[in-house]
Amino acid sequence: MKRCRACRVSIEGDWEVCPLCRGPVEGEATASPLPRVPLVFSRRRVLRVLFVCSLVVILGSFAIQLLFHRGTSGIGVLRSIWLGVVAGWLVVLMAVRKRRNAAKGTVYLVLVVGGVSAYWDYLTGWHGWSLSYVVPIVCASSIAAVLIAVRVMRMEVGDHIVYSGLIGLLGLVPILFLVFGWAPNPIASWVCVAISAVGLMRMLAWFPEARRELAKRLRL
Ligand SMILES: [Zn+2]
Repeated sequence: MKRCRACRVSIEGDWEVCPLCRGPVEGEATASPLPRVPLVFSRRRVLRVLFVCSLVVILGSFAIQLLFHRGTSGIGVLRSIWLGVVAGWLVVLMAVRKRRNAAKGTVYLVLVVGGVSAYWDYLTGWHGWSLSYVVPIVCASSIAAVLIAVRVMRMEVGDHIVYSGLIGLLGLVPILFLVFGWAPNPIASWVCVAISAVGLMRMLAWFPEARRELAKRLRL
């Protein structure tokens, strides 16, 4: 056990200096008597994962623009992807700040972004870019953000069910576009539906308690 000569105390744990007087200690270190408290989530880890993902998406969108070099009307694909990255950041920030309301906040975010871009599209002579690109891309990036947030934060069973429902809901929006043929270019909608399906399967695979809880509720 460590000892401080000045205070004449024995100190349990691996102290470099005396916890009372900050003076030097001598003797062998012992195991710390304090339990290791795991962090609920690491803010740094969230931001690092998100930063790398954003960088990959933005560079990828530049690469796609260079490869296809399409003339864009309205916001276009590239700027829709940028909008999606910003939306993803907002969703993760909401999830980190206030877990449960983040699901509601994400739905409002998609509604506002979708509504504004559809109105803009309508004012500039309706090319359908808002429904082809903006809404599915914002939905898909929100799903990805929810998956990242859920992965790095510790959550209760109730939170898992809320977020699984959110991922399903965000995947349903582009399904409507596909069914009713509202999106002139359906590629982004298909990608979003696929991301939603994969996300739901991931959620169920990650959280067996939520899966059991869901099965219990569905049986009732
Ligand atoms: Zn001391």
